[in-house]
Amino acid sequence: MQTTEVQEQLFSNLKTYFGYDSFRAQQQAIIETVLSKKDCLVIMPTGGGKSICFQLPALSFEGVTLVISPLIALMKDQVDGLNANGITASYFNSSQSASEQHDIIERVISADLKLLYVAPESLAALQNIITEKYISCVAIDEAHCISSWGHDFRPSYQQLGFLKSTLPNTPFIALTATADKATRSDIAKQLRIEHAQQFISSFDRQNIELEVRPADNRISQIVKFIKRNQGQSGIVYCLSRKTTEQLAKKLKTNGISAKAYHAGLSFDERSKVQESFIFDRTQIVCATVAFGMGIDKSNVRWVVHYNMPKNIEGYYQEIGRAGRDGLKSHALLFHSYADVIQLRNFASGASNEAFQIAKLDRMKQFSESTTCRRKILLSYFGELLAENCGNCDVCKNPPQIFDGTIIAQKILSAVYRLKESEAIGMIIDVLRGSQNAGVLDKGYNQLKTFGIGRDIAYRDWQHLIIQLINQGFCEIAFHQNNALRLTEFSKKVLFEGAKVSLTKPVHIPEPKVKERVK
Ligand code: ADP
Ligand code: ZN
Repeated sequence: MQTTEVQEQLFSNLKTYFGYDSFRAQQQAIIETVLSKKDCLVIMPTGGGKSICFQLPALSFEGVTLVISPLIALMKDQVDGLNANGITASYFNSSQSASEQHDIIERVISADLKLLYVAPESLAALQNIITEKYISCVAIDEAHCISSWGHDFRPSYQQLGFLKSTLPNTPFIALTATADKATRSDIAKQLRIEHAQQFISSFDRQNIELEVRPADNRISQIVKFIKRNQGQSGIVYCLSRKTTEQLAKKLKTNGISAKAYHAGLSFDERSKVQESFIFDRTQIVCATVAFGMGIDKSNVRWVVHYNMPKNIEGYYQEIGRAGRDGLKSHALLFHSYADVIQLRNFASGASNEAFQIAKLDRMKQFSESTTCRRKILLSYFGELLAENCGNCDVCKNPPQIFDGTIIAQKILSAVYRLKESEAIGMIIDVLRGSQNAGVLDKGYNQLKTFGIGRDIAYRDWQHLIIQLINQGFCEIAFHQNNALRLTEFSKKVLFEGAKVSLTKPVHIPEPKVKERVK
């Protein structure tokens, strides 16, 4: 066919099978590259439209397009969606009976399938039909799973390296939303498609407002946030299964209907929650990161991170589930030192500990930034934003710098008086003159620093202490009960009159919500 004919055919298939009138940025170029039998590596944010980059070419190839996908749970949905659009597609995985599997192999042999979704661990069972006679194209979805540099490494992906040797003349298309440069080239290397043409889409999702708040009274903040966004769909991401359930319960007590979702639920329970969310019967899901992979729901209006994500890739992917329809959406992250500490503990002892901690540090820097957050986010993905975004909390409430020397002195002298043995919470309790049991038991109410900071709210103290840590005037002893410790620079503030600049804690005015948070 002539180029124009090929293009006409593409547009006609786009309309017939998917109902779209035009391509999104890059989609057409990617599809044309696949059709010209060249390998590609596609880096596109979640919701960017990766699927049709292999589904549309699949229609034009004679044989089957093999789609490697990590999540058996989602294959059925994807295949059902394709079938509903009139495309012959199926999946092959360990959940099927031998006779079902046999039928699928027959359909591949008789070229009665355009797309076949397979989990990497099921590839061995398909060995006999993975030849260039039957397979016209290989798509590797969530390709970052092959790289231990990515954020979701799956050992089963490693065996994909052999595919290219078996199918040297077959076009491969690897797709992921992970754009970190090192991971990108590692993916190409592991898949043995180093020469692949790379298509990197912009990661800027301007419609998502970014906001970070300190994590104290999270539940009450979340309740108010949800009430302000009444009637809208949203996801609250939590670190643990237990938190998802506790939070869903708490929300219910406050008159908000929410469901919990995590990998500990049965397959049926999970499908139910997922389905009722997709069809707007459930508006709010409190979930672990297991929720959302591959969920195609365009009207998620907000994503809240109850806990801090492990890294920026994860954070970005999760907030990307909001606002796929391009309309105004909101991503709210709660920043807590307790979470950072917990995540550090998770990472410790891992074979790639230093690497995980470096990623966590970037996440922490993002959370504590006093410059445009979108700039930081995009720079992580190798993009430069020329102007401040105007749609993040820092842009909306630029931090005001003030002379924080006295405040710094108060904090550091409390650290000193508490013998560098207490964590942030206790330091604040002492500064604020709290009469709680922990303080009284230890006799901290007798100290000179007790109550010298009553005029500042607890969460503001948190904010100020974090700034001191970030500036190196004190540090957290992660291996000693997270006690706050002095550093060599503390002396300069305590004894040598060094000045400290701090930014004023920003207060996001909460609109009045009548009911009390229970
Ligand atoms: P990804 O896999 O990158 O997360 P999907 O392939 O699931 O994204 O696509 C995200 C959403 O965008 C889906 O609802 C899809 O139907 C829609 N979409 C994709 N391409 C187009 C297009 N060219 N025009 C309109 N909508 C599109
Ligand atoms: Zn900004």
